[in-house]
Amino acid sequence: MKITFIGLGIMGTEMASNLAKNNVNLTVYNRTAIENLPFKNTNVTIADSLEDAVKDADIVFSMLSTPKAVEEVFFGQEKTLSLMKKNAIWADCSTVNPSFSLQAAKEAALYQIRFLDAPVSGSKIPAKNAELIFFVGGDAGVVKEATPYMNMMGKEILHVGDTGKGASLKMLVNMMLAQSMLIFAEAVLLGDKMGISKDFLLDLLPNLPVSAPFTKVKAASIKNDNYDVQFPLEWMHKDLHLAAITAYEVNQPLYIANLTKEIFAEANKDGMGRLDFSAIFKYLEKTK
Ligand code: NAP
Repeated sequence: MKITFIGLGIMGTEMASNLAKNNVNLTVYNRTAIENLPFKNTNVTIADSLEDAVKDADIVFSMLSTPKAVEEVFFGQEKTLSLMKKNAIWADCSTVNPSFSLQAAKEAALYQIRFLDAPVSGSKIPAKNAELIFFVGGDAGVVKEATPYMNMMGKEILHVGDTGKGASLKMLVNMMLAQSMLIFAEAVLLGDKMGISKDFLLDLLPNLPVSAPFTKVKAASIKNDNYDVQFPLEWMHKDLHLAAITAYEVNQPLYIANLTKEIFAEANKDGMGRLDFSAIFKYLEKTK
């Protein structure tokens, strides 16, 4: 099987590296040439064009920033779908909205390409350690064919349902992630104002049952004033925007997520987009 990986950003580089470690027949491609890719002394082919990247591939994984980027690459100006082998699989791991995944599947079908939405839960470190959780939507047979490769990049492959259901689940998870981070930040800042030491709160609150477990890691980053990017704040803003679009499409009110989206929008506008999303703490601290 020939596997291609498109999009070597924070996540894509780690995911493709894990395919390489498993000696997969792998070709990678990124729009912008990257120096020091971690594929030295491997058999990985670094393609110079999308055509070279996909023309022989049996499975193409993509990990791109936004629905617009995925569209541009696969069925917009680049028309990568038209360059792929008939019956190949396209597994899109990017976080996009479910209606976009449905559109992508339709576009893929025009070229007899089999589509999976396969976004992941877990950030840079789980990606590095092959501990991602894949939320997959699509035909069970296609999921089965792609599973050995997803297993090389993740610890769990959840087949959620038909096309768009992987993207749907990912939307819920990130909505909760954003809001948990925000309420944690607010609680620490309020506690600090009331005279309880910030460090005490950062140590204590993540260990109480009311906190989301991931806040333990984020509390340590806040203590060190270290917001080196794992999951970019700008993509969290994007995901909240996609949740809002989706809620409109299915006629479901979304109160707190929309408020959260606007706070992330402010922080993004303030230039924090390429910090980790936990920098929402820094933003609130600055504006308090
Ligand atoms: P990133 O580091 O910003 O990488 C984005 C990738 O998309 C880069 O390879 C970039 O190529 C490519 N790209 C953007 N626009 C493009 C276009 N128009 N044409 C071609 N390529 C384009 O982002 P990331 O953190 O890896 O995230 C990627 C996706 O995974 C996003 O949907 C994000 O929401 C999701 N996600 C991220 C995390 C995380 O913790 N980071 C976790 C789970 C899911 P260039 O280098 O040329 O710009």
